[in-house]
Amino acid sequence: AAKAAGRRTHRFFEQAMDARVRERRQLEIDLRHAIAHGGLEVYYQPCLSLKDDRITGCEALVRWRHPERGMVSPAEFIPIAEDTGLINEIGEWVLTTACREAASWPDDIRLAVNVSPVQFKSGTLVLKIMAALAASNLPASRLELEITEAVLIRDDETTLAILHQLRAIGVRIALDDFGTGYSSLSYLHRFPFDKIKIDRGFVSDIAGPDGSSSIVQAVVNLASARRMTTTAEGVETEEQQRLLRTLGCSEMQGYLFSAAKPADKVVELFALHRSRLAQRRGHEGRR
Ligand code: C2E
Ligand code: MG
Ligand code: MG
Ligand code: MG
Repeated sequence: AAKAAGRRTHRFFEQAMDARVRERRQLEIDLRHAIAHGGLEVYYQPCLSLKDDRITGCEALVRWRHPERGMVSPAEFIPIAEDTGLINEIGEWVLTTACREAASWPDDIRLAVNVSPVQFKSGTLVLKIMAALAASNLPASRLELEITEAVLIRDDETTLAILHQLRAIGVRIALDDFGTGYSSLSYLHRFPFDKIKIDRGFVSDIAGPDGSSSIVQAVVNLASARRMTTTAEGVETEEQQRLLRTLGCSEMQGYLFSAAKPADKVVELFALHRSRLAQRRGHEGRR
């Protein structure tokens, strides 16, 4: 009878379990399967210089092609991967794959890889990055790691030590999604980032009447005073691009220029863009 009651209780909890929790659990199972069976891909989104229109680098963005759900957004599965620790395997796989692919790109094009706060706590991040560089022959100076403010909120001393070790190897460090976290300015003071990525939220209303252009201007000024470059995220219109250029922002990324693409497609874009620029320079030269 106790056993039956136990089963009833169990059933009760099963049914009461929030649909979201169940879905999350299923996604976790599916994600483990995807990691083990090649279900993940890396896409690359180019970053454009606002000074000379050259492609300066590409950001690796993981993609999951789910057998039934289609493309699952990283915004949906990265949090699950972080809660379950699966992000360590995913992160390592993205890093090795992206370094291998980027090693064959033109050598003035950098690779940016997102690193989760969880990877910072693993204790093996620096070694894994060194291993990925060694295996791919990608020079450390062509690798940029994107971290968010969440990394800096936790255990400060350890995080700072890791950032300094990465810097010592020659890897660049970018602060991602700037402006979305807490007490942002104090972080800039504690660690000399190479780049600040201005969050899409500021870029999207930069052109409006009470727009964020004064905030963007302040970030650009602050960054340049500390020898950091700035990248505007999520640039979708010509007007945003024009304003960002006026404000002195160094680079931009967004659908206006290109969304993230598979490796072979982004390599095609490098060549196409290079010839477009050469052609434009040719026209300007003849004028
Ligand atoms: P993020 O690193 O800030 O990447 C920028 C996100 O904005 C990407 O979404 C990109 O596709 C999207 N985006 C780029 N341009 C535009 C635009 O013009 N308009 C709009 N609306 N969106 C744009 P995605 O690929 O879905 O990735 C979302 C987030 O997931 C990333 O934000 C990053 O935090 C995380 N993520 C993606 N790949 C990885 C990874 O390999 N490792 C880790 N730890 N996180 C990752
Ligand atoms: Mg990023
Ligand atoms: Mg970002
Ligand atoms: Mg973001």
